[in-house]
Amino acid sequence: MDDVSDVTHLGIGDTLKLLRERRLSAVELTQAYIDRSEALDPQLRAWLRFTPELALAAAVRADEAYRVGTAGPLAGIPLGIKDVFSTKGIETTCGSNVLRGYRPPFSATVVERLEAAGAVFPGKLNMDEFAMGSTTENSAYFATHNPWDLTRVPGGSSGGSAAAVAAGMVAGALGSDTGGSIRQPGAFCGIPALKPSYGRCSRHGLVAFGSSLDCPGPMARSVEDLALLLQVIAGHDPHDATSLPAEVPDYRAALSGDIRGLRVGIPESYFGAGLQPEVATAVRAAMTQLEALGAELRPVQLPHSEHSVATYYIIAPAEASANLARYDGVRYGQRVEREGMWPTWRATRGEGFGAEVKRRIMIGTYVLSAGYYDAWYGKAQAVRTLIKRDFDEAFREVDLIAAPTTPTTAFGIGEKRDDPLQMYLQDIFTLPPSLAGIVGLNLPCGFDDEGLPIGFQLIAPSLGEALALRVGHAYEQASDWQRRPPLPA
Ligand code: GLN
Repeated sequence: MDDVSDVTHLGIGDTLKLLRERRLSAVELTQAYIDRSEALDPQLRAWLRFTPELALAAAVRADEAYRVGTAGPLAGIPLGIKDVFSTKGIETTCGSNVLRGYRPPFSATVVERLEAAGAVFPGKLNMDEFAMGSTTENSAYFATHNPWDLTRVPGGSSGGSAAAVAAGMVAGALGSDTGGSIRQPGAFCGIPALKPSYGRCSRHGLVAFGSSLDCPGPMARSVEDLALLLQVIAGHDPHDATSLPAEVPDYRAALSGDIRGLRVGIPESYFGAGLQPEVATAVRAAMTQLEALGAELRPVQLPHSEHSVATYYIIAPAEASANLARYDGVRYGQRVEREGMWPTWRATRGEGFGAEVKRRIMIGTYVLSAGYYDAWYGKAQAVRTLIKRDFDEAFREVDLIAAPTTPTTAFGIGEKRDDPLQMYLQDIFTLPPSLAGIVGLNLPCGFDDEGLPIGFQLIAPSLGEALALRVGHAYEQASDWQRRPPLPA
C-alpha cells in the first residue's frame, strides 16, 4: 500500500479483502496500527500492556497463511484484548494490583478462537479493577482518556477497549459486560458495541466478577465488524457449563438492510428525569429513523426496570465477594508476605484490592450473611425475575426494544470518582438487559452540544444477536454518526 496510515480507517471486511488480494500485508497493517498506537497512546493511555513484537510475529504468520492458502477468517487483523481475559503466558492483571505479575497458563476460549482465526494482538487494554466501574478510573494502574475530549472518561469498565477502537489503535476489541461495561464505554466513545446474550460467548478464562451476569463481547467501528468478530467468538464451549449449546447463525448474512415490518418497543419510563435532554432528543431521533426505515414503533411497559440499580448492586457484589475470595496470595499474582497465614492474607488483600473492590466485597459479604440473606440477596433475586419477566412479556408484542444506553454523555475525569451512588446510577439503562441475560447493542446516534458522542441501545431477546445486528446495520447505513474523534496530533 502507498499510504498505510489510511488502513487504520478501514472496516475489518474491507481490510480482509485487501489482505486476501495481497494488496496489503498483515505486517504493514499491523505496523500501521502500532504506529498509530505509539502516536496516540501517550495521551489516551488505553494500553495496559503493549506487545507490538508479539503482534508483528503473529502478522508474519498471517502473511504466510495467506501465501499458502490457510488464512483464517480474521487472519492479520489487529485486535485489542481487555485485560479481564486470560492470555497464556502474558501478564493478565484485570486492572488490579492483586494480580500483578500473574501469567495465566491458558488463554480464555474467546481469545483462543480469535487466535485460531488468525487475529493479531498488540496487547491488553486498560479497565476498571475487576471490571467494577463505569470510567476506567478504578484501574490500579492509570486512568484512560476519552479520545473525543481528553479531560473526560471513556466510560468503563471496558474503557481501554472503547478508547483504542474509537481512536483507530486497533480494528476491534474484546470487552466484557456484566452490567453495561461494553455498551456504556461504547456510547461514551461513539462506537458500536455488543453485549451478547448470557451464555452466547464462553466465560472460560474470563476473570470472574458476577458469574451469572458476565458476558464477553465485541467492540468495533461498524456493525458489520461486530458481526465478523461475534461469528468467531460465539458458540458453545464445554469448558463453560453456562455456555449455550445453540447453533451460531451467519451474522454477516443477517445484515440484509431490510427492517420493514419489525416491531420496535419504546419503554416510555426510560425517558424520565435524569436523562440529559440532548441524549433524549438524539435517541428519539434514532427511533424516528427506524420508523422511516419501515419499523413499527410501539409503547412497551417495563415497570420493574426502575429497581435494576438496587437489584444489580446486591447481586453483582454478592457474586463478586465469592469470586474474589480466591485472591489470597497463595495461587495467583501478588503476595504480601507477613508472619503467619492470616496476616499474609490480610496484607495481600488489603494492599492488593482498591477501594471500589473492597466496597463491593463488603456489600456482597453482608447481603449473603446469615440473617441478612433473605432480606437482601433473596429479595434481589426475586426482583431480578420480575425484571426479566417484563422483558418476556414485552417481547410477546415487539421484536426488539430501543432505549438510551446512558443517561448522559461522557463526564469529566474525577467528576464522580468520590460519589459511588452517582456512579452506579450511570448503569440505569444497561442493567435491565444484563439482569435478564438478553442482548444489548449500543449504536452511535448523535453528538451533544460539546461534540461528545451519544449512543442508543437495541435490546433483543436471548439469542437475538442476529436481529439486533440486522437492525443496527440498517440504522447505521441510514445515518452518519460513524465519525472519527478529533484526536491530538
Ligand atoms: N458499571 C457497572 C459496575 O460497576 C458494570 C460493570 C461491568 O459491566 N463490568 O459494576
